[in-house]
Formats: sequence, structure tokens, C-alpha cells
Amino acid sequence: MRKNLLSIIFLSLLSLITINVSAQTCVIPVIIHVVHGGQAVGTYPNLAQGQLNSQIQVLNDDYAGTGFNVSLYPGSAFTAYATNTIISAASKDGLGRIKIANTNISFCLALYDSLGNTLAEPGIDKINYNALPTYSAGTKNPGAYSTNITTYLNNYLKPKTIWNPNKYFNIWVTDGGGGLLGYATFPAGSTLPGIPTGLGTATTDGVWVYGKSFGSSNIFPGGTYAIPYDMGRVCTHETGHWFGLTHIADCPASSDWCDDTPGGGYTMPAGCSKSYPLGVGTCTTYPSNSPDGEMFMNFMGYSDDCDMYMFTQDQANRMNTARANSPYRKSLGLHGLCPTSCVLGVNKSIIENNFTIYPNPAYDHFVIRIGTKQNVKIEVRDAIGKVIIEKSSSDSETVMINASALSKGIYFVNVTGENFKGVKKLIIE
Ligand SMILES: [Zn+2]
Repeated sequence: MRKNLLSIIFLSLLSLITINVSAQTCVIPVIIHVVHGGQAVGTYPNLAQGQLNSQIQVLNDDYAGTGFNVSLYPGSAFTAYATNTIISAASKDGLGRIKIANTNISFCLALYDSLGNTLAEPGIDKINYNALPTYSAGTKNPGAYSTNITTYLNNYLKPKTIWNPNKYFNIWVTDGGGGLLGYATFPAGSTLPGIPTGLGTATTDGVWVYGKSFGSSNIFPGGTYAIPYDMGRVCTHETGHWFGLTHIADCPASSDWCDDTPGGGYTMPAGCSKSYPLGVGTCTTYPSNSPDGEMFMNFMGYSDDCDMYMFTQDQANRMNTARANSPYRKSLGLHGLCPTSCVLGVNKSIIENNFTIYPNPAYDHFVIRIGTKQNVKIEVRDAIGKVIIEKSSSDSETVMINASALSKGIYFVNVTGENFKGVKKLIIE
């Protein structure tokens, strides 16, 4: 599955040579800052790699609309609500239900740190709080803070540990919180209506999740979890906020700026497998009398982890709008930190004009010239997509590649700079 996806993305990148791509799966590099007090790896809160990695799998499944328990979606889910004229065709599936969206956003564990060094554990930054500078307002141990943990995080931990939010999606995982499971900064400059206060900044942008609610006990049972928030949905939910979504559970249904998320004032019962419909008629104002009840399976509601498994198309559109416009969202995926990169919203002329190859056709060497000095990563792939040459170069305007090992034929040169990514055809004679 993953392998197939990678090759699809590669073929799509090749198509940039001739066409502009407007819809593309975006791969967003994640760095997880795991804060601990010197415990052995695998002893809470120094979470095991398997628990951390499982969260990325949950994010990818949930944002593709294929996450755990998605098969529970009722065959007639919200079909009466969907007949409302305000619901667009794109929000419905073939059964006339409100559709479970594929957001076309995916995530990877970042391969490199901010200096370009390969991370021994991709996407993971372990931090012993004892080694951090003194916090003038209190202890350095996040486990000592309850709901006021946000002050500690925003004023101290995040500014001390954040990686460049133009390149990485920062996630902090710590003990503490006193019942708060997670919180996110909202996207600045998104152009979206209805964005609450609490915008991310250069020193705070990202998501925090309580350590026992990070990762999935389904995927990595050997971790430390707080049931019923043990299936990675806290991070899915907070990442939704980070992309500009608000909660759906309120009434009227339009209060989240998405028409296809039926709201309701129903108090959400705990536990799994709630019966559908739930809370029929509890939201009477807009756009109808909640004929199918509220969308308790939506990630932006308040169900337990096991009972939430969908975003809607309007929510996906809203997230992609933030992704395309917000300063700390729009360049994520363009720095070669994932095995594949995101090209959504990148202008074709920028891609094509940011580097040249000469001579081309080439014989035993060729040179890549970049418009401005920067760190670049170069991959030369053969016609079936296999990487033949890989090279990284820092602060460079020109990079010479020895081609003597390449046999005659057609190749594709994939160049990832700090603010662009592109592919050009190369002929070896
Ligand atoms: Zn929330």
C-alpha cells in the first residue's frame, strides 16, 4: 500500500514537466519532541519508538479516510440530511451519504534534522527536561502542570525546542495536563473564516498531546496508554485544529463553517459503537431539523477514540485551504525531509525555473545550477523510478554530478531546494 502510493507520487512528479498539478497528496514532515526526565526508553514518558511511529500511521489512515472502525459507518448515514440543498455533490458518496473524505494530506517522520543530518530515529527528538535551562516560573517537569500546562508550553518548552515551523510540523508529547489531552495552535494567515484566537507563531506553532494518548494501542500494544483515548485520535483531532478546523458538536450546524457536518446539542455518551442515529432533532436551527442526528463519528466531535473515524469533504477543503495559504503550512513538504514531497499549490514556472542542467545531453558529468545559493538534495532516477545517484550539497549554486556510472539512456533529475522542488529530464549519451 505504501509502496504503491510512493510510486504514484513519483509518477505524478514526473508529470510536472508538462502539466500543472493542482491536487496532490501532500507529505508533511513531522518532528515529535518527546519530553522525559531521564527514564529508560520505553518507560513512560520516554515513549518507545513503536508507540511514536504508530501515531503517524494513525494520522495517515485517518486523513485518507481509511482509519480504524471506518467500516462501522452506517449504510444510510446522513442520507436525509444530505438531501438538503446546501450540501454539495462533492460531499456525498455513491449511496447518498455524507462522504468520508480523503483529505489528500499525509505525513512522514522527518528523515533529517535542521542541519541536514540523518535522524537515527526518523521524526523523533528526545528531550530530557533536566538538561533544559531554568524555567523562572516553576519546575521544568511538564508532569507537574495540569491545565495550566499551556502556559509552560507556550512560554518555555516550545520556544526552547521548536524546529523551524516552515519545514517541520512540530508535535510535543509530554506527561502532565491534568486531564487536558491535547491542544493545537491555529493556522495564521489561512484566509479561512472563523479561525479562533491562539494562532501559531515562530516559537509556538504545532500540536501538544498528552503522552498516554499518543499513538495507538491497536498498532503498538506494548506502549503506555490512557483508555479510552488510546487509538491516536487525540492527535488526529488536534491536527485538524492545526489545519483550521473547529468543533462540530455545537448547534447550529454551520458554526464550524462546514455545511456537511450535522451538529447537535446532544450530550455525547461515552463508549464505542453508539447507535445511529444519535440525537435526532436536537439541532433545530440550521439547515434542517437534524433528521439523522449528529455526526458523532467525526474527528472534530467529542466521541471516544474508538467511535470517531471521519472527516467530511468540507472539512478536507478547509484544511487544504489552510495548507495552501498559511505561512507555517504552505512550505511544509518542500524541503526534502520526507521520502516524497508535497507539490500542492506550487506554481509550475517556479518549479521549472529554479534549476538548469548542462550539458544535456551529457556524457560523463553534468552540472545542476540553482537560482540562488541554498541547501539542495539531488536524486537521479532511471526511467522506472529507481534512484541511481543521490547527493546532498549545502549552500550551493552549482553542483557537479559524476555521470560515468550511468549507462546511455533517459534519466530524471529530482532536485529539492529550500523553497522549491522539481524534476527535469536528462539524457546520457
Ligand atoms: Zn478540540
